[in-house]
Amino acid sequence: MASVEKARKMGGNWLLRLVAFSGLALLAALIWFITLRLEGEPPRLQWDVTSPLYLGKSVELPLTVADPKSGLRRLHVVLNKDGKDVVLGDIAFPTAGWLGLEKIQQETTRIKIDPAAMGLTDGKALLRIALWDHSWRNWWHGNLTDLQTEVVIDTRPPAIENLTPQNYVNQGGAGLAVYRLSEPCPTSGVRVGTHFFPGYSGYYPDKAIHIAFFGMSHLQGAGTEIVLEARDAAGNSSRTRWPYHFRKKAFKKDALQVSDGFINQILPEFHALLPAKPNASLKEKFLFINRELRQANYEQIVAAAGKTENAILWKGPFLRLPNSAPRAGFADHRTYLYEGKEIDQQDHLGVDLASLARSPVPAANNGVVVFTGFIGIYGQTVIVDHGFGLFSMYSHLSQIAVKAGERVAKEAILGHTGSTGLAVGDHLHFSILVRHLFVDPIEWWDPHWIQDNVTLKLDSVRSSSGQAG
Ligand SMILES: [Zn+2]
Repeated sequence: MASVEKARKMGGNWLLRLVAFSGLALLAALIWFITLRLEGEPPRLQWDVTSPLYLGKSVELPLTVADPKSGLRRLHVVLNKDGKDVVLGDIAFPTAGWLGLEKIQQETTRIKIDPAAMGLTDGKALLRIALWDHSWRNWWHGNLTDLQTEVVIDTRPPAIENLTPQNYVNQGGAGLAVYRLSEPCPTSGVRVGTHFFPGYSGYYPDKAIHIAFFGMSHLQGAGTEIVLEARDAAGNSSRTRWPYHFRKKAFKKDALQVSDGFINQILPEFHALLPAKPNASLKEKFLFINRELRQANYEQIVAAAGKTENAILWKGPFLRLPNSAPRAGFADHRTYLYEGKEIDQQDHLGVDLASLARSPVPAANNGVVVFTGFIGIYGQTVIVDHGFGLFSMYSHLSQIAVKAGERVAKEAILGHTGSTGLAVGDHLHFSILVRHLFVDPIEWWDPHWIQDNVTLKLDSVRSSSGQAG
């Protein structure tokens, strides 16, 4: 300001004034530039990995680094194992242009880690990431952001030990696998062809022992491979064949006549679920219910069966609706005829049992009610969880007497039979599900099947491992 005052006093010489103003502007620009170059904002490191991080055989860690103000200067990544540093990455980010004003503000890179090639053995290690920017802070070293995180190097796949050497599986039936894992694995279970059934610990005090109930679809035949699978936190996976004897089953074939009278009778219940197609014929409406709605209903059932307790809640054989006669069997293959012509085919994945109209429906076994309500073709339905992914389902009910979340004992009344949904006459449609798959209920009504395929297996592992369940 002094020079400005001086210039004014000297009679307003325009040249002097210009020089003074230019000097001032230059000084301001310099201060501005220095302030800018001395900014104290540390660079940003995007790292959303939960600790501890598991490193398998070969890993690529995505890393996004950013510094909007001064730009990135250097990224240095080191793995410290047993007191030894191994540099995983050292990237220098140059600046360019007049006064280095062209800078790299953001960069995504992948840090490659191959423990074996780097001479790193399995075990705990420390990952250190340091990132500097081009600020003039810290005597031109720049602002530093650093991060340290514990990692676990694990290059060995988990070992799976099958604990049930003798196994039988019926086509359309269920099974139980018991296996021991050499290390904790976020996912493990049984793969039956294309179907996967997760296994969990919790039945035995030894957390390494897992059990998995599974099902074989009625559509899967001899030669279907059953394997135990496990994948550890580092991504190492293992598979081992699960030996079993396959028992082929014959399923009934049925023809169902679909009349206009029948369609008109069931339509009111489905009115709100049908697509708004004013000119749709009765046949089209029926086909929508029998195909699209059936599929949507199945997905709703699978969603309801997504919640299960890691405990065997049930005891002994499952209860069949008392004093009832079978009307249709599991996996009956149905051909639907309309005006003498075949219009559809579907498989009936439950057992139809008829008793007196509005008969009380007892819970087949101890469990927790996980769903109550209307499920399209199944009508008013109750689904009970029996633990470890085993469910029983009761459909076409006229009335429901329980609520979701309620614990029920075997024989507790869940509701009354009826003909809601796609049903002809009062009956109970009873289904058993293992996770997402409908299996034959007949096995679960049979004390011998349960003894040979569940109880004896669980007990043999208990006695051999010396653990009490
Ligand atoms: Zn049925």
